[in-house]
Amino acid sequence: MTTQTLTNEFLEKIKAKLEERKTAVEEQLESFAKSDPHQQGNYNSEFPQFGDKEDENASEVAVFESNLSLEETLEQSLEMINRSLKKIADGNYGKCEKCGQVIEPERLEIMPTATKCAPGACKMNHA
Ligand SMILES: [Zn+2]
Repeated sequence: MTTQTLTNEFLEKIKAKLEERKTAVEEQLESFAKSDPHQQGNYNSEFPQFGDKEDENASEVAVFESNLSLEETLEQSLEMINRSLKKIADGNYGKCEKCGQVIEPERLEIMPTATKCAPGACKMNHA
Protein backbone atom coordinates (compact mmCIF):
# COMPACT_ATOMS: atom_id res chain seq x y z
CA MET A 1 0.00 0.00 0.00
CA THR A 2 1.26 3.44 -0.88
CA THR A 3 0.73 6.00 1.81
CA GLN A 4 0.27 9.18 -0.06
CA THR A 5 -0.65 12.46 1.47
CA LEU A 6 -2.22 15.40 -0.25
CA THR A 7 -0.39 18.68 0.06
CA ASN A 8 -2.11 21.85 1.23
CA GLU A 9 -1.36 23.37 -2.12
CA PHE A 10 -3.18 20.54 -3.85
CA LEU A 11 -6.14 20.83 -1.48
CA GLU A 12 -6.37 24.58 -2.12
CA LYS A 13 -6.48 23.91 -5.84
CA ILE A 14 -9.23 21.31 -5.41
CA LYS A 15 -11.17 23.61 -3.12
CA ALA A 16 -11.11 26.41 -5.70
CA LYS A 17 -12.26 23.96 -8.35
CA LEU A 18 -15.13 22.71 -6.16
CA GLU A 19 -16.25 26.22 -5.31
CA GLU A 20 -16.26 27.17 -8.97
CA ARG A 21 -18.43 24.15 -9.76
CA LYS A 22 -20.70 24.92 -6.84
CA THR A 23 -21.37 28.43 -8.13
CA ALA A 24 -22.07 27.11 -11.62
CA VAL A 25 -24.49 24.46 -10.34
CA GLU A 26 -26.29 26.94 -8.09
CA GLU A 27 -26.63 29.43 -10.92
CA GLN A 28 -28.08 26.77 -13.15
CA LEU A 29 -30.57 25.73 -10.46
CA GLU A 30 -31.59 29.30 -9.78
CA SER A 31 -32.45 29.81 -13.43
CA PHE A 32 -35.54 27.62 -13.09
CA ALA A 33 -35.96 26.83 -9.40
CA LYS A 34 -36.18 28.63 -6.10
CA SER A 35 -33.89 27.71 -3.26
CA ASP A 36 -35.70 26.36 -0.24
CA PRO A 37 -35.22 28.74 2.69
CA HIS A 38 -35.86 25.93 5.17
CA GLN A 39 -33.54 23.33 3.74
CA GLN A 40 -30.10 24.28 2.54
CA GLY A 41 -29.14 22.81 -0.80
CA ASN A 42 -32.74 22.04 -1.69
CA TYR A 43 -34.39 23.72 -4.67
CA ASN A 44 -37.95 23.68 -5.91
CA SER A 45 -38.64 23.97 -9.62
CA GLU A 46 -41.08 26.69 -10.52
CA PHE A 47 -43.97 25.89 -12.78
CA PRO A 48 -43.41 27.77 -16.05
CA GLN A 49 -46.08 30.08 -17.45
CA PHE A 50 -46.28 30.20 -21.23
CA GLY A 51 -49.97 31.08 -21.61
CA ASP A 52 -53.49 29.70 -21.35
CA LYS A 53 -53.81 27.85 -24.65
CA GLU A 54 -53.92 24.10 -24.61
CA ASP A 55 -50.60 23.66 -26.41
CA GLU A 56 -49.01 26.21 -24.09
CA ASN A 57 -50.27 24.28 -21.09
CA ALA A 58 -48.87 21.08 -22.55
CA SER A 59 -45.46 22.74 -23.03
CA GLU A 60 -45.55 24.01 -19.46
CA VAL A 61 -46.01 20.46 -18.17
CA ALA A 62 -43.25 19.12 -20.43
CA VAL A 63 -40.77 21.80 -19.42
CA PHE A 64 -41.68 21.41 -15.76
CA GLU A 65 -41.09 17.67 -15.91
CA SER A 66 -37.71 18.01 -17.56
CA ASN A 67 -36.78 20.72 -15.03
CA LEU A 68 -37.68 18.38 -12.19
CA SER A 69 -35.28 15.72 -13.38
CA LEU A 70 -32.56 18.31 -14.06
CA GLU A 71 -33.20 19.71 -10.58
CA GLU A 72 -32.61 16.29 -9.07
CA THR A 73 -29.36 15.78 -10.99
CA LEU A 74 -28.06 19.22 -10.05
CA GLU A 75 -29.05 18.83 -6.40
CA GLN A 76 -27.12 15.57 -6.29
CA SER A 77 -23.99 17.17 -7.70
CA LEU A 78 -24.38 20.07 -5.29
CA GLU A 79 -24.56 17.60 -2.44
CA MET A 80 -21.42 15.82 -3.63
CA ILE A 81 -19.60 19.14 -3.94
CA ASN A 82 -20.67 20.21 -0.45
CA ARG A 83 -19.61 16.87 0.99
CA SER A 84 -16.17 17.23 -0.59
CA LEU A 85 -15.82 20.80 0.66
CA LYS A 86 -16.76 19.66 4.16
CA LYS A 87 -14.15 16.91 3.97
CA ILE A 88 -11.50 19.44 3.03
CA ALA A 89 -12.56 21.58 6.00
CA ASP A 90 -12.48 18.54 8.29
CA GLY A 91 -9.10 17.41 6.97
CA ASN A 92 -10.22 14.04 5.66
CA TYR A 93 -10.60 14.80 1.98
CA GLY A 94 -9.39 12.33 -0.63
CA LYS A 95 -9.70 9.09 1.32
CA CYS A 96 -11.43 6.19 -0.33
CA GLU A 97 -14.71 5.39 1.41
CA LYS A 98 -14.22 1.71 0.64
CA CYS A 99 -10.62 0.99 1.62
CA GLY A 100 -9.41 4.14 3.37
CA GLN A 101 -6.33 4.74 1.27
CA VAL A 102 -5.66 8.12 -0.29
CA ILE A 103 -7.16 8.40 -3.74
CA GLU A 104 -4.68 9.21 -6.51
CA PRO A 105 -4.28 12.97 -6.91
CA GLU A 106 -4.57 12.63 -10.71
CA ARG A 107 -8.02 11.12 -10.23
CA LEU A 108 -9.08 13.81 -7.79
CA GLU A 109 -7.99 16.53 -10.20
CA ILE A 110 -10.29 15.18 -12.89
CA MET A 111 -13.06 14.19 -10.48
CA PRO A 112 -12.79 16.33 -7.34
CA THR A 113 -15.92 14.76 -5.84
CA ALA A 114 -14.60 11.20 -6.13
CA THR A 115 -15.15 9.24 -2.93
CA LYS A 116 -13.58 5.98 -4.04
CA CYS A 117 -10.37 4.83 -5.73
CA ALA A 118 -10.44 4.17 -9.43
CA PRO A 119 -11.98 0.78 -10.23
CA GLY A 120 -9.14 -1.72 -10.14
CA ALA A 121 -6.90 0.47 -7.98
CA CYS A 122 -8.95 -0.13 -4.87
CA LYS A 123 -7.93 -2.70 -2.30
CA MET A 124 -11.58 -3.57 -1.77
CA ASN A 125 -11.87 -4.31 -5.46
CA HIS A 126 -15.15 -2.53 -5.96
CA ALA A 127 -16.48 -1.91 -9.45
ZN1 LIG B 1 -10.30 2.19 -2.33
